[in-house]
Amino acid sequence: GAANIGVVGLAVMGSNLARNLASREGNSVAVYNRTYARTESLVTEHPEAGFIAGKSIDEFVASLAKPRTAIIMVQAGAGTDAVIDQLAERFEPGDIIVDGGNANFQDTIAREQRIAPTGIHFVGVGISGGEEGALKGPSIMPGGSEESYRTLGPILASIAAVVAGEPCVTHVGTNGAGHFVKMIHNGIEYADMQLIGEAYDLLRTVGGLPPHAVADIFARWNEGPLESYLVEITADILRHVDQATGLPFVDVVLDQAGSKGTGVWTVQNALDLGVPVGGIAEAVFARAVSGKAEQRAAVRRLVTSRPEVQKVSPEFAEDVSAALYASKIVAYAQGFDAITAGAEKYGWNIHKDQIAKIWRGGCIIRARFLDRITQAYTENPDITTLLEAPYFAQAVADGEAAWRRVVATAALSGVPVPGFSSALSYYDSLAAERLPAALVQGQRDFFGAHTYRRTDRDGAFHTLWGGDRSEVTA
Ligand code: NDP
Repeated sequence: GAANIGVVGLAVMGSNLARNLASREGNSVAVYNRTYARTESLVTEHPEAGFIAGKSIDEFVASLAKPRTAIIMVQAGAGTDAVIDQLAERFEPGDIIVDGGNANFQDTIAREQRIAPTGIHFVGVGISGGEEGALKGPSIMPGGSEESYRTLGPILASIAAVVAGEPCVTHVGTNGAGHFVKMIHNGIEYADMQLIGEAYDLLRTVGGLPPHAVADIFARWNEGPLESYLVEITADILRHVDQATGLPFVDVVLDQAGSKGTGVWTVQNALDLGVPVGGIAEAVFARAVSGKAEQRAAVRRLVTSRPEVQKVSPEFAEDVSAALYASKIVAYAQGFDAITAGAEKYGWNIHKDQIAKIWRGGCIIRARFLDRITQAYTENPDITTLLEAPYFAQAVADGEAAWRRVVATAALSGVPVPGFSSALSYYDSLAAERLPAALVQGQRDFFGAHTYRRTDRDGAFHTLWGGDRSEVTA
C-alpha cells in the first residue's frame, strides 16, 4: 500500500477531513465509503487531492501503508461499530483504527477494550470545528495509546488549526480521554452560548437597545478580553436582517433552541462524578425550557403584569460585560473541574494547560481567554479551581460589584439569567464563611441518622433526636 492515512465515511465531515489531509505535504490519502457513488463524486470533484479510491473495503485496506492507519467518519453508533469490525477483521497488530466521530467516551472505552486483544490500536479522537474546521483545520483531541500517537500525532498535527505556530492537537490521554474532553468542550460551549444570550437579552430588554446596537457592543467586546469566535458571530447574527420581512433576523427566529446531546452527556457525567457544573447544566436546561411551548404559553396567559424594567445607568453595558466575563470564568472553571474528576476516575494523565491550548483554534469556543487558562495551569497544575489562579481571582474581584448589580437588575426586571445567577451563586458558595449545608446535614442526621462531623473535634457523631438529644459517637 502507498497511502499513509485512510478515511472511511465520505459524507460532509469525512470528505472535508480527507481533503484537508490530502492538501498537506507528506500525506497520501486513501478513501472509502460504503456507497461507492460518494467516493466517486469526491474523487472526481477533487482530482488535485490525488485520492486513492477503494471500491471495496479490501481494496481500501490494501492501499494503506503499514502501520495501516484509518480514520472512521461515519454515523456515530451502529455505523461506527460496523466499520470498526470490518477494519479489525483485515488489520494486523500495530495497525491503527481511529474513530473521529462524535462518540460517547464510554463507548470509546468499551471499543478499545474489545479491540485490544487483537493487538490493533483503537483510538477515539474528538474533532471540533464542524464542517469548516474539518476542511481548514479543526481542534483535535486524540485519546488512545502512546504508541499509536507516535504514528497518528504527526498526521493529526498536519491538519489541525494552528495558533501561534502550534498545531491545536495534543495526546489527551489513553482510551476514551479524547472523546471525554471533546464532550466537556461541548458542555462549555453550551454555557458560553447561554451567557452570551443572557447578555444580549439584558442589553436589549433592560438596556433598551435594538439588535444592531447590541451588535456594535459585541463587536467592541470582541476587541477586549471577551474576544472569541462566539462573541464575533453573535455580532454578525445580530446585524443580520431577514430578507423576507426586513426585520432583524433574531426577531423572526422561533425562540426555541435545539441540541444534539453532548451538553446533556457532560451534565450526566458530571452528576455521576459529583462535580458541580451548574453553569453548563443551566445552559442545557435553558434550551429545554425554551422548547416547552405549552408551559410557556400557559404561564404567560396567567401573568397579567410583568415587573417594571429597571432604569439603568449609561454604564450598564460595561456592567453586563463584567458579569459576562465573571460568569464565563465560572463556567470554564467548572468544565476544567469535570476534566480533573474524569481524569481521576478513568486514570488519565490529562495536562489541562495543553487542553486550553488546543482549544485556542479550530473549535467553537476558541478565544483569547484560553491563553489565560493555559497560563494558570502551567504556573500551577495543582490549583483546586481556576478561580484561585491569580489572574482569574483578580478578574472576578474586579467584576464582582457589576456582576451583582446585573443579576439584581435582571431579577427586579423579570429577565431570566439562569447562567449569570447560577455562576454568581456558585462563586458565593465557594466564598462563603459558612454554608447552610450544616443545617442540611443536621436534617439528614435527624431523619436518617446519617451522622455529622463537628467543627471542633474529629470523628462522626449522631444526636439522639428521638430520645434525650444527647450526642453519641457514631
Ligand atoms: P453522517 O453522520 O451523516 O454519516 C453518514 C456516513 O456514515 C456516510 O458515509 C454513510 O455511508 C456512513 N454510514 C452510516 N452507516 C454505515 C454503516 N453501517 N456502514 C458503513 N458506513 C455507514 O456523516 P457526517 O459527515 O455528518 O458525520 C460523521 C461523523 O462526524 C459523525 O460521528 C458525526 O457525529 C460527526 N460530526 C462531527 C462534527 C464536529 O464538528 N466534530 C460535526 C458533524 C458531525 P453511506 O454513504 O454508504 O450511507
